[in-house]
Amino acid sequence: MSVLVYAENAAGKFKKSTFEVVSYAKAVADQNNTNLIAISIGDVAADDLAVLGKYGAEKVLNVSNDKLKNFVNQAYASVIAEAAKAQGADVIVLSNSFSGRGLAPRVGVKLQAGVADGAVSLPDQNGEKFTVKKTAFSGKAFATVELTSANKVIALTPNSFKVVESGNTAQVEDFSVETKESDFKAMLKDIVQSTDKVSLPDAEIVVSGGRGLKGPENWGLLEELAGLLGAATACSKPVSDAGWRPHSEHVGQTGIAVSPNLYIAVGISGAIQHLAGISSSKVIVVINKDADAPFFKVADYGIVGDALEVLPKLIAAVKEYKA
Ligand code: FAD
Repeated sequence: MSVLVYAENAAGKFKKSTFEVVSYAKAVADQNNTNLIAISIGDVAADDLAVLGKYGAEKVLNVSNDKLKNFVNQAYASVIAEAAKAQGADVIVLSNSFSGRGLAPRVGVKLQAGVADGAVSLPDQNGEKFTVKKTAFSGKAFATVELTSANKVIALTPNSFKVVESGNTAQVEDFSVETKESDFKAMLKDIVQSTDKVSLPDAEIVVSGGRGLKGPENWGLLEELAGLLGAATACSKPVSDAGWRPHSEHVGQTGIAVSPNLYIAVGISGAIQHLAGISSSKVIVVINKDADAPFFKVADYGIVGDALEVLPKLIAAVKEYKA
């Protein structure tokens, strides 16, 4: 058994979720007494590629050509599948990120592999079976799935595995693949950075607001708290539907799924569709004036009170702590 990990980059830089997924793949390789090969697609500097060695990659395949500069689902899936074949890798690990969720099933089809997307722990390989615990039903439940095929694809939920430094620098090799025109039917032409704030899907702390905040004029409090904590801001669906916040901040079943270490929900009722997007959060803090709000049932810490009174006190307390 040999393991290949896809090291995703954003504008040429690796994200924390990439180091998590490489650390995870290294642990999978260790389970099987094999080495770990990483593949990077796009323009990443050689020094940054070699850094993947720190997280356990022995070798990094560097795929850099103009056509593959921007993410293209089909083409990236073909490249990863071809690299897996060339390296004899039978376990392919990627992040369950926005692009990873598109890649995992496509790589799975190309390699006739079973796919465990949304994985939250290392595979259990005791005995004959290869099983993986993963989220199911938009994060409302966990399932343990058995991958019975020879090839296996695992997409790791961000923030579910710690970054582990276990090695030195990796050997970087250029890897080229003949791409097919049919892989480029849909192309990403340009990426426009909408904000320089903390990216919501990668955030370790999220401060999120609901209709209980009454209106967009009160979002300054939420932003101030988020700024102090180095957090991303998010919101419930009705808030973005009303235009109080951009749709890119809408969290839940029909929005973004987040899995931060800390999720602070302010004036959000905790409807099942909202919880679907946040249930992998490690610690949940709820601020709501209604002690019977459903969100309290899944909260680790709760404050019953008016958000417009609690938030200024919380901000003052964080400022005092940081002073
Ligand atoms: P409300 O339900 O109006 O709740 C406001 C909360 O604020 C209440 O609990 C109230 O007690 C509290 N509050 C009021 N005033 C204060 C105050 N001064 N201080 C503190 N607390 C206060 N929703 C999502 O969020 N994400 C989704 O992805 C999503 N997808 C959906 C998909 C479908 C198919 C459907 C049918 C619905 C979906 N919804 C989604 C909507 C969801 O069902 C809820 O309606 C929504 O989450 C409620 O948003 P809210 O909690 O902000 O508002």
